[in-house]
Amino acid sequence: MTPHPIAIIGGGLTGLTCAIRLAEQGYQVHLFEAAPNLGGRTKSFYSPVVDHWVDHGPHLLIGAYQATQKLLHDVGASSNVTWQPSLHLPLWDKQRSFFSLKPKPYLPFPVALLISLMQLPTHGFKSVRSMLKIALNMKKPPAKSVQVWMEQLNISSALQRDLIEPLCLGAMNEPMHRADCKSFARVLNEAFANHHNARLGWFNQPISQAFIDPLKSHLKNLGISIFTSTTIRDIEQNNGICTLNTGTSQTKPYSTAIIALPAYARNRLLGIRQDVKTEAITNVHLWFETDITLPQALIGSIGTYSQWFFDVSSQTGQKGLSHICAVISAETPINRKQSFKKVCTELGALLQMELPAPVYHKIICEQRATVLTSYENQTLSSGTILDASEAPRPGDLPATIESAILRGEEAAKTLCFQQK
Ligand SMILES: Cc1cc2nc3c(=O)[nH]c(=O)nc-3n(C[C@H](O)[C@H](O)[C@H](O)COP(=O)(O)OP(=O)(O)OC[C@H]3O[C@@H](n4cnc5c(N)ncnc54)[C@H](O)[C@@H]3O)c2cc1C
Repeated sequence: MTPHPIAIIGGGLTGLTCAIRLAEQGYQVHLFEAAPNLGGRTKSFYSPVVDHWVDHGPHLLIGAYQATQKLLHDVGASSNVTWQPSLHLPLWDKQRSFFSLKPKPYLPFPVALLISLMQLPTHGFKSVRSMLKIALNMKKPPAKSVQVWMEQLNISSALQRDLIEPLCLGAMNEPMHRADCKSFARVLNEAFANHHNARLGWFNQPISQAFIDPLKSHLKNLGISIFTSTTIRDIEQNNGICTLNTGTSQTKPYSTAIIALPAYARNRLLGIRQDVKTEAITNVHLWFETDITLPQALIGSIGTYSQWFFDVSSQTGQKGLSHICAVISAETPINRKQSFKKVCTELGALLQMELPAPVYHKIICEQRATVLTSYENQTLSSGTILDASEAPRPGDLPATIESAILRGEEAAKTLCFQQK
């Protein structure tokens, strides 16, 4: 064990996971979080207008998120995620209406996927050939954008439009022409490994109750000291120990300070002047007095401004107003009014109805929702500082819940290994 406690800076999923794993190994852990509440980007707020807790943005999981499932299990929160029995990706566009990628669960996954792709409207054998080409080339993706790779492989435009682009946006928060090939190939490889990995899951309660509260209880049971509303401004290292500057005071000594922040916040903390590429996610929340239900709990919308529609009411079973949330990745709304209008028009078209005016709406644009994959990203561990920041490099998993939890686990393992 270390002579002093371990400090963790950042109370998002990375910091919370790291704190739990270290405390389980017997370390004394102090966790510092700038905001009044834990959770970071996985957060919800209470809206008195609709009398419900609302996620800033709905979070989608895939079966390949093994570390996430293990953590959920360890904190007794597994039942707070609804998992599809096997992949069912409902899609919609104006011309073709509703269709689904739904590989038959009784066939081996690769075969089932190819058959399901072939049966999508306007796809046929071209998509099968294209998917096989991608599979054959997945081990050696070039250091280029996904779009350039798709062009090099001569991938059918239907497959690009209905699968590759939605996957880039959904999993990497980047459009095809910017998304990094190596990380994308990793996502494909893991997500399409088998039926179990490919299925989708969503929280069946607001995320703060579904995930953050159980994590918080677990932290408390493990005796972890939590300091919220405490921004760390600086880390001072001296003779193998470090102290943290909170702006008004200097903390007690720590053996190690683990940085669990997005790379831009880490840079600010360490006084590094380097731009970090990030991307926004916009969530347009709509509440209706009349019963508005989507045919599925979530629907990918092709060729529209809204990329995903989440039926939050049916996902969470919340009574009262019908809550639909449209998600737009990698695009900052130019004008909130236009954004709202577009989403309402597209939802009306999808539901083939004259959409009633929502009784309430809220647009939440997380400007720096994810740090993008880039060769410029780096980890900056040195001395008593262990860097677990979100700074994905090509070939790494993109910034997701799973990668945050994995970074937390990895930092805890590294520290335990160093102390042996
Ligand atoms: C709208 C939205 C939708 C998303 N959708 C999905 C999805 O569907 N699926 C998915 O897998 N992922 C999704 N993500 C990504 C996922 O939420 C993040 O990758 C993950 O939560 C990051 O966790 P983290 O702990 O690394 O960082 P954060 O959650 O950012 O935590 C860092 C914490 O550090 C605190 N902090 C910052 N500076 C300091 C300081 N100096 N001192 C003390 N504390 C500090 C911050 O307040 C914050 O709480 C989404 C993200 C957003 C924003």
